[in-house]
Amino acid sequence: MNTRVPPDALDFTPAVGDMPFTPKQRALLSLASELGRTKFAPRAAQWDETASFPFANYDDLRDAGLLKLCVPESHGGLGADYATYMMVAAEIGRHCGATALTWNMHICSTMWTGVLADGIAMTDAQRAEHAKRRELHFARIVNDGAIYAQPFSEGSAAAAGKAPFGTTAKKVEGGWLINGRKIFASLSGAANYYGVLCTEDKGDEHPDARDTLYISVPATAAGFSISGDWNPLGMRGTVSRNLYFKDVFVSDDEQLMPRGIYFKGAQTWPAMFFTLAPTYLGLANAAYDFTVQYLRGEVQGEPPVKRRMYPTKQIAVAQMRIQLEAMRSLFTRAILEAKPNPTKDEKMRLYAAHYSVMEGANDIARLAIRTCGGQSMMKHLPLERIYRDSRCGSLMLPWTAELVLDRMGRETLYEAGEKDD
Ligand SMILES: Cc1cc2nc3c(=O)[nH]c(=O)nc-3n(C[C@H](O)[C@H](O)[C@H](O)COP(=O)(O)OP(=O)(O)OC[C@H]3O[C@@H](n4cnc5c(N)ncnc54)[C@H](O)[C@@H]3O)c2cc1C
Repeated sequence: MNTRVPPDALDFTPAVGDMPFTPKQRALLSLASELGRTKFAPRAAQWDETASFPFANYDDLRDAGLLKLCVPESHGGLGADYATYMMVAAEIGRHCGATALTWNMHICSTMWTGVLADGIAMTDAQRAEHAKRRELHFARIVNDGAIYAQPFSEGSAAAAGKAPFGTTAKKVEGGWLINGRKIFASLSGAANYYGVLCTEDKGDEHPDARDTLYISVPATAAGFSISGDWNPLGMRGTVSRNLYFKDVFVSDDEQLMPRGIYFKGAQTWPAMFFTLAPTYLGLANAAYDFTVQYLRGEVQGEPPVKRRMYPTKQIAVAQMRIQLEAMRSLFTRAILEAKPNPTKDEKMRLYAAHYSVMEGANDIARLAIRTCGGQSMMKHLPLERIYRDSRCGSLMLPWTAELVLDRMGRETLYEAGEKDD
């Protein structure tokens, strides 16, 4: 990592807005901004056009130490906490949505097993088992620059948290036998390890979400395969294809969390699902930044035509800024108060922040195109890609825009355990 600590003030406004950052946060934000501006933004069109994975960006992330951002310092990582990750991820999303979204899957594999797991209640035996196993996963990332994916979705109600995962893990001598299928697995073909959520097959034919296991499958494991087309509207560089597991054996050490802990974690740490949002806050910033530059006639390579003198443009920019500031405020409040077992108000704010960012990003991109006009949506400019990428945020489980509304309404009107009959 570039350890140069910037002066007290940054020379740019981060995607999360201006706030009292720590020296470490300033250093990381500067690093992300520099990588984003000089490397990721110029390459973004290429991954989008060919729907291919941004390998070159991952080489840069690895060289900069950013693959080990959330690995604890005691294990050789940069030891970034939840809020710091969320700030840095938004900065990367500002320059390349697909890189930020896939990097989120990788980082979560270290953050869930790291700082989040530290906040989940475990017995002494579970804590000891977890400490031993995560050492192996952290070492793969720190020493070998390994990449982890996070394939949960199956096309059933499981990824929404409403049913047990259909992918199963059966205990066998020395490890687990995994069978099943995942859809929409970002980093497919690029990851070295796939952190799958599956249900323990206890042989009783009564799958239970409390028996969810979080296990890493090496890309080289026998019986593991990737298939399916990948030609979507947006986030094309994520290369999120289907995974198949046919009697895949993995050793006990591949367990990313002890038995039963993922289920507890999902209940204890709702903010773990908010980590998809910074990518989209970054995209909202990108749409806003572009609009300001375009109206000022300052987009590189374009004729220096100014359009800022029209009151309608000024009003639209003001509307975009108001929406962006509202998103930033909710987002920063939510990341600063994220913790295990939040209060009801904190949880509502978290949902509100997630919804505002996921729906707001596409709304700002829509307004950007309407305001800048027809020439702004040509393929050689980033705006149409930002518009398409930003459309994907509110589709992502478990907190799609619909499901967030569902949760907020229900959890407002019903206290835990309350029923009408
Ligand atoms: C670019 C991109 C990258 C992705 N990367 C990953 C990844 O790396 N790992 C991963 O696990 N997933 C990933 N996903 C998948 C994503 O999280 C969702 O699982 C997927 O988009 C769901 O597909 P669907 O909308 O067809 O689901 P469906 O299950 O058909 O749901 C359709 C809609 O119905 C609603 N719905 C679903 N279930 C319920 C329910 N029980 N009750 C009420 N309403 C419900 C939701 O609002 C949902 O949007 C990615 C998706 C995208 C777009």
